[in-house]
Amino acid sequence: MTTFANDSILVLLDTTPDGQLAASSAALVGAASQVGTPVALVVGEGADGAGALGAAQVLHAAAGDGLTVPMVDAVAAAVELVQPEAILISNSIDGRDVAGRLAARLGLSVAVDAVDISRDDQGVVAHHSVYGGAYNVQSATTFGPLLATLRQGAVETRATAAEAQLIPLDVAATQAPAASIDSVEPVVVSSTRPELRSAARVVSGGRGLGSAESFALVESLADALGAAVGASRAAVDAGYVPHALQVGQTGVSVSPQLYIAVGISGAIQHRAGMQTAKTIVAINKDADAPIFDVADFGIVGDLFTVLPQLLEALDAKKG
Ligand SMILES: Cc1cc2nc3c(=O)[nH]c(=O)nc-3n(C[C@H](O)[C@H](O)[C@H](O)COP(=O)(O)OP(=O)(O)OC[C@H]3O[C@@H](n4cnc5c(N)ncnc54)[C@H](O)[C@@H]3O)c2cc1C
Repeated sequence: MTTFANDSILVLLDTTPDGQLAASSAALVGAASQVGTPVALVVGEGADGAGALGAAQVLHAAAGDGLTVPMVDAVAAAVELVQPEAILISNSIDGRDVAGRLAARLGLSVAVDAVDISRDDQGVVAHHSVYGGAYNVQSATTFGPLLATLRQGAVETRATAAEAQLIPLDVAATQAPAASIDSVEPVVVSSTRPELRSAARVVSGGRGLGSAESFALVESLADALGAAVGASRAAVDAGYVPHALQVGQTGVSVSPQLYIAVGISGAIQHRAGMQTAKTIVAINKDADAPIFDVADFGIVGDLFTVLPQLLEALDAKKG
């Protein structure tokens, strides 16, 4: 019979429609390794890759037909088998759905959108950046394992690759109501840029760009740095870019290594989505813009002067 360490941390890894582990997986296993022994759970294809990320044991369950409910069934079965100290799930759209359903089913509390995981003398603790990044708080559970969703890109720790033991997980499907997937049609993405949520570098533009045409400057800088493109709500509302690129309270939360804010004032609702970036660079013509309060490096200047110079310098460095 398979045994699991007392300090097992169960990690549900997201997968892509083509059967690969999602980009969030390495940080989830890395976060688990900070506080215990990572035990990965993969529902569907992709389980083979989990050992390379550092999971000591990898549970593998067959994918069901319903949307997220088969994952909840699988995590519930894994919790029963592993008796983990904590359960980590990506703070992705699917991950949040699974975490909420699992909490309701098992009577657990959820620590949402954690930016780090640590351990104190009472157990595993989730760290959160709240109120627009103005406060760092910690949460723990007084009963059951800690169930936390982890913000993508927030944790840098990577676990050492392991010879993982692959364990098939028997899951008794519940009759819980679930939406079914009738067909899957991949959207052809013409961009080669990294995905915004998990990108290591993000260049975002704001109302200061002035037009959709000028926003191309932000895109050029992103491409020169191999970065994803983001935007403020004002830039989205003005129609420069689609809402999917909005960073902030009512958009995407990002935690990249490098975040460059161009022509963005730094309203609290924008900062809520980017303040946990490791290095923040702001380019703004107003020296009193609040974005400079959170920036590690700032350039006070007209972006239409600064960006072409920056692009030229990056180009020269390449050549
Ligand atoms: C409930 C709620 C939710 C919200 N959610 C979000 C959210 O998710 N994300 C978000 O971003 N906002 C959000 N907002 C809106 C937020 O309050 C701000 O209005 C918005 O972030 C401002 O965008 P901005 O910085 O691009 O524009 P502005 O505040 O207009 O700032 C433009 C900046 O560009 C600078 N600038 C202008 N021209 C140049 C130039 N030539 N060179 C250099 N700098 C220049 C200016 O100095 C200024 O600082 C939300 C608001 C509410 C009420």
